[in-house]
Amino acid sequence: LVKSRLQDPGFDFFYFVLQWPGAYCDTKRACCYPTTGKPAADFGIHGLWPNYNDGSYPSNCDPDSEFDPAEISDLVSTMQTKWPTLSCPSNNGSKFWEHEWEKHGTCSESVMDQHKYFENTLALRDRVNLLQILQDAGINPDDEFYDLQDIKNAIKDGTGFTPVIHCNKDPDKNSQLHEIFFCVDTSGTEFIECPIIPRDRCPSKLQFAMF
Ligand code: 5GP
Repeated sequence: LVKSRLQDPGFDFFYFVLQWPGAYCDTKRACCYPTTGKPAADFGIHGLWPNYNDGSYPSNCDPDSEFDPAEISDLVSTMQTKWPTLSCPSNNGSKFWEHEWEKHGTCSESVMDQHKYFENTLALRDRVNLLQILQDAGINPDDEFYDLQDIKNAIKDGTGFTPVIHCNKDPDKNSQLHEIFFCVDTSGTEFIECPIIPRDRCPSKLQFAMF
């Protein structure tokens, strides 16, 4: 048996989470584009989160493991396009990546180091062309309302995996497509069907906001 099979990684699976920038910005009212410019109208990465099968998750596992931009210098330009921050004040994204590393990444150190954590997450993003999948199903970011079930079916058909969807509300209380969760095995490289099925946090009809 290979070593990795004998070791308990300390968690059960990952959530790989994508965010729709249009919903983040509508809800927060004040979102800020990164100093590198307005992100593309596409799903961006929120993070890769170790999780337990009971629905809980570890966090901030290693205060001694600091986010180190020098370790991922070769990935930064890709992270700026695929993992843009939208929080204010406007910044280059490092604060978001640092937060994700410290809160979630440090809980996966048994299986990957910092460079691998960001590299694997970017590679997962490349494997799901979510916007294209939705648009091929006639679901466009045009402020129209769509059926939650149609969105889930399109994603399941296009990726092979059932997503979990979270909505948030804009100032007019419209529920908007905000975050899409996929499950990934403990190596951080293969999509899997989720071992637990958390409820979608969306009504049956939701808005796909323009960005
Ligand atoms: P979480 O704790 O859910 O992994 O990360 C969310 C935190 O990351 C937020 O509290 C926020 O301060 C920070 N953050 C920075 N940029 C973004 C962004 O573009 N989207 C989201 N959702 N959070 C961001």
